[in-house]
Amino acid sequence: MKSRYSLHLGKPFGIPVSVHWTFSLLIIWIVIISINRGLDSTQILIQVLFVLALFVCVVLHEFGHSLVAIRLGGEVSSITLLPIGGMANMSKMPQEPKHEFMVSAAGPLVNVIIAGLLWIYLAVFDRVDIQQMQFHAITLRNFPVMLLAANLFIVVFNLIPAFPMDGGRLFRSALAIKMSRLKATEIAKDIGQVFAIIFIIAGLFFNPFLVIIGFFILLGAKGEYEMIKYQDVLAHHSVSDVLKTQYATLDASQTLETAANRLVQISDNGFVITRQGNYQGILTKDELIKGLNAHGKQTTVAEVMRSDLPKVNADISLFEIYQEMQKNRNQLLPVFSDDQFIGILDLENIQELFLIRRAIKMGP
Ligand code: ZN
Repeated sequence: MKSRYSLHLGKPFGIPVSVHWTFSLLIIWIVIISINRGLDSTQILIQVLFVLALFVCVVLHEFGHSLVAIRLGGEVSSITLLPIGGMANMSKMPQEPKHEFMVSAAGPLVNVIIAGLLWIYLAVFDRVDIQQMQFHAITLRNFPVMLLAANLFIVVFNLIPAFPMDGGRLFRSALAIKMSRLKATEIAKDIGQVFAIIFIIAGLFFNPFLVIIGFFILLGAKGEYEMIKYQDVLAHHSVSDVLKTQYATLDASQTLETAANRLVQISDNGFVITRQGNYQGILTKDELIKGLNAHGKQTTVAEVMRSDLPKVNADISLFEIYQEMQKNRNQLLPVFSDDQFIGILDLENIQELFLIRRAIKMGP
C-alpha cells in the first residue's frame, strides 16, 4: 500500500501502522446507514465507536501475526488498515510449514483472547441477561457483547480455508508437510479461488464487502502462487548464473544526447556509467527518456544516472534479489564481487531463465 494514501498512526514494536484513506468511506457508510435507520447523533457516535473498537481488534490480530513472524525470523515492514480488514506487509516470511502454521494461527488466536477477556468482563462486572437485550443497533449496553460476537466472527471468518486468508495459510502449511510447497500452494490457491467466487456471488446478494474480499482473494492467491513458482526455480540459482559481463558503457561526462544516439545501437536495457573505467552508476532506458524530457539533451548522464542502487553480491540467491527488484521496480542492478564491479543483473534475464527452466521441467 502506498504510504501517501495512508494516515500514519504510530510505530509500536517498530512496525509502522497506518490506515488507508478508503477507511474513511467505511465510516461515512456507517453514518449514512445509521441516519437511514433513524438513529440520533449519540447513537450514530456509538456505531462509529464500535467500528473503531473493532478495528483496534483487527490491528491487534495483525500484531499477533507480525510479532510471531518476527520471532521466527521474518520481517514485517508495515501494517495497513483497509475497510475490509488489516494487512501485515511481510517483507520476509518464515517458510517452514510449522512456522507458517504458527504465524497464521497467531492472528485468530488474538481475537480468541480478546473474546475471552470480554467474556470474563461480562461475567464478573457486567452481568447481562442476553435474552433481554436489544440487538438491532449497537448501544452502550450491548457494546461489549457485540464486540465479543464480532471477535468470534473474525475468528470464524478468517479460518475459512480461502488462501491467502489465514485459514488457507493454515491449510497450505499442513499440506506442505506432506508435499512440496509449490504443490501445496497450488491446491490451496485452487480451493481459495472457489471460495472467492462463492464470496463474490454471495456478496452481490448480501454484502458488497464480500465482493471486494472475493476479488482480494482471487488476486492474492494468484499473485502468491506465481511468486512461489518463481521461488521453486530461482532458489536453486545464484546471481552469477545470469550475470551479464558484456554491457554498454558511457562515461559520466557524456550528454544525454550521446546516450540517446547510442541507445538505438544497443540491445541492453541501459548503460553502465563509468569514470576513468570505474563504476559510477546505472542509467536505464526509461530513466534516460525521463531525463531527456525533464532536463534536456545537454545534461550529462552523471546528473540523471542512479548511483544509489544497492550493490548486489554475485553469490546471493536469485530469488531473493528477484523479489527485491520487483518490489523496488529495478530493471538493472550492479553486481560486485569483493568490492569489484563485475557486471550487471537484468530483470529480463531472470524472467527468461525462469521461463526456460520451467519449460524444461514441464516438457516431455
Ligand atoms: Zn489474519
